[in-house]
Amino acid sequence: MADDARVASVPLAAHLAAELRRIREADLYRTRRVIDGGHGAQIQVNGRSCLNFCSNDYLGLAADPRLAEAARAALAQGTGSGASALISGYNREHQRLEEALADFIGTPRVLLFSTGWAANLGVLRGLLGRDDALVADELNHASLIDGGRLSGARYLRVPHADVTAFDAALQETAAARLRLLVSDAIFSMDGDLAPLPELAAVAARHGAALMIDDAHGFGVLGAGGRGTPEALGMRPDIQVGTLGKAAGAAGAFVAGDTDLIEYLVQRARSFVFSTAQPPAVAAAARRGLELIREEPERRARLFDNIRRFRDGAAALGIALVDSQTPIQPLLLGDAARALSLSQQLFEQGFWVAAIRPPTVPRGTSRLRITLSATHQPGQIDALLDALAAGMRANP
Ligand SMILES: *Cc1c(COP(=O)(O)O)cnc(C)c1O
Repeated sequence: MADDARVASVPLAAHLAAELRRIREADLYRTRRVIDGGHGAQIQVNGRSCLNFCSNDYLGLAADPRLAEAARAALAQGTGSGASALISGYNREHQRLEEALADFIGTPRVLLFSTGWAANLGVLRGLLGRDDALVADELNHASLIDGGRLSGARYLRVPHADVTAFDAALQETAAARLRLLVSDAIFSMDGDLAPLPELAAVAARHGAALMIDDAHGFGVLGAGGRGTPEALGMRPDIQVGTLGKAAGAAGAFVAGDTDLIEYLVQRARSFVFSTAQPPAVAAAARRGLELIREEPERRARLFDNIRRFRDGAAALGIALVDSQTPIQPLLLGDAARALSLSQQLFEQGFWVAAIRPPTVPRGTSRLRITLSATHQPGQIDALLDALAAGMRANP
């Protein structure tokens, strides 16, 4: 042991400098840009105005004054929730939001978490242990991967959206106590839909449970905006949704049966040991939920914009992947190429994020273009022209 310690020991400062150099040389270095003012299709970034094509604010609710007004009204009572929900932090605003979400989704109960990351970790770590098995799509969100690993359950990583492989993995784990199949509903970097009805059928055949992460579908898909399960006509055992994307606020929820929610209240560590979200955030999210319900024209505009972008790209010979959601990736392969195109677009006033490893597999770096209900048709056309010119200049 002592020998190992001597051999492995590197001073922290030297370690950090070497790692950062390595990241930079691989074109994988990341930096942040600073936003002034509200979020939206038009945004002030690094001191200048820019068209924003890399936001998850799909319905344009993040800076809607009605959400801010709801938050302001709740803020009159104060800012902090003061404690975790199990101690003294469960405010009437949280309870109202949980009830509104359960009613909207059509599930018996809903439990609020402070982020989607916390929800996924809390569910997987809380539900699964050594005797259990998790069967997971290989392109699932990082929080599902981390939660699965943290749980100590046997982790089977299945090729993307491969129903036969899910079936085989469940066959292989027949001896596990509890088996959970987990998938993103809309894949966050590819924009495609998981084959949820087929996954539900496979899970049911094996007596396994199905959990879906609908971070990008909630508020967006389905006639009523209830998300991917509504759009595909199915119902998972465990549904996670986030409130920081289409709903325009922050936080997340888990929806399911009463016993699932009661169990998570006992056992989800990211719920039990974390301060409840500020009541004003819950108030804003509840107003966002009302607008998802009352203003379906936002979804109609969003899908008009998706169609305009895809038709325009086809006309210009820009090859897109098969995504019918607001997430429209443009695959470029090489990290340096994605970065250079993104930087070039930024100089022309278009903000489109370059997504590189480890967020996506090596060799699949891309521009992740996202559309919002608040983009104007002319803004989409301008982006398409800039993309076509940029692709020609960066072959
Ligand atoms: C954004 C996202 C999360 C995390 O949600 P936060 O509320 O941002 O922490 C989880 N899963 C998926 C698929 C996401 O896209």
